[in-house]
Amino acid sequence: MRITEATLFHIAIPCTPFETSFGTIRIRPALIVCLKTDSGYVGYGESSLLYEPLSEREVVTDGVRMLSQKLSELIGTEVTDSDDILNTLEKDFPITTFAIEAAYTDLLAKQEKISLATYFGANRKTVLAGESIGLQGGIEGMLTEMKRYVDDGITRIKIKIKPGSDRELLEAARAAHPTIELGADANAAYAPSDLPLLQSLQEFNLTFIEQPFAAEDLESHRVLNEATPVCLDESVVDEASCKRSIELRACSMINIKPARIGSFRASKRIHDMCVEAGIGLFGGGRLETGVGKTMNVAFYALPGFTHASDITPPDQYLKRDIALPAFKIANGMYTLPDEVGSGISLDHETLEEFLVETISFTS
Ligand SMILES: [Mg+2]
Repeated sequence: MRITEATLFHIAIPCTPFETSFGTIRIRPALIVCLKTDSGYVGYGESSLLYEPLSEREVVTDGVRMLSQKLSELIGTEVTDSDDILNTLEKDFPITTFAIEAAYTDLLAKQEKISLATYFGANRKTVLAGESIGLQGGIEGMLTEMKRYVDDGITRIKIKIKPGSDRELLEAARAAHPTIELGADANAAYAPSDLPLLQSLQEFNLTFIEQPFAAEDLESHRVLNEATPVCLDESVVDEASCKRSIELRACSMINIKPARIGSFRASKRIHDMCVEAGIGLFGGGRLETGVGKTMNVAFYALPGFTHASDITPPDQYLKRDIALPAFKIANGMYTLPDEVGSGISLDHETLEEFLVETISFTS
């Protein structure tokens, strides 16, 4: 199977403002990679970069430049299922080059005529959906959103917190929903001196507090993890940081985002490491389009994902999604498609509407 055509679609879709302690996202850019082979298969991948750096240093301009170069080099090359592809990618730009590795993975599953989830080694048919609520609405907005999710069958809700917007939010959330699985995500907004406050939040019976401290501050996470289960997100960028976090007992859970790790292959090794160490897992989201989201959820069907994943349907935050079929959650669950590979195709009419540029290479 040889690559004969490579296309990069740079799109920008207006989205519902999503506020975290890092900043607010109003336009969701995406770089969609399509690789075609001489056997007629098409593989898709998404790079979920932003125009301005929030929590990461890669941005869209780097992504377009780097992907253009890499895609031109891929024309005429064989698709293999070894780690060779990873060695050709730029390790310092994981979110950018993840689009290529994902498209490769989609092609390999299609070549084997199996679904992406089966290719990853998953045998579940459904994936539990959790929801994440941003900081924009205050207590009232949060409770309204929460009620809507609970009515839709969602059983795990994660609330974004930051210094000054934490205790009251969690107290109100817990009072309104005494039995729901409740988590808090701080996106590294707290200092070690906030430990007593964070420890006290366990009175609201939190399933986890996600990444309260800076990515490199594993020691504060370790101390907090003794009082309340800590979930690491930004700290786990590769296999080495995962191993270090587990050895130091800095976490009880990890939020895996394959895009942040840079490949499904390395993410699978992190998954296996966590299973062996008894560390819980859930899958994260980066406000992807249906392309990235559908591929991620196939990965989140692996047995090590012990908790509901952040898999909000893209049409809930994007003006319109560009992937077909529409990504749907019913009764708090996503049902995996039976199609070979990712099962995704592009809605070209919608894609046209949000298109910024197209870059194509052929043999
Ligand atoms: Mg997070």
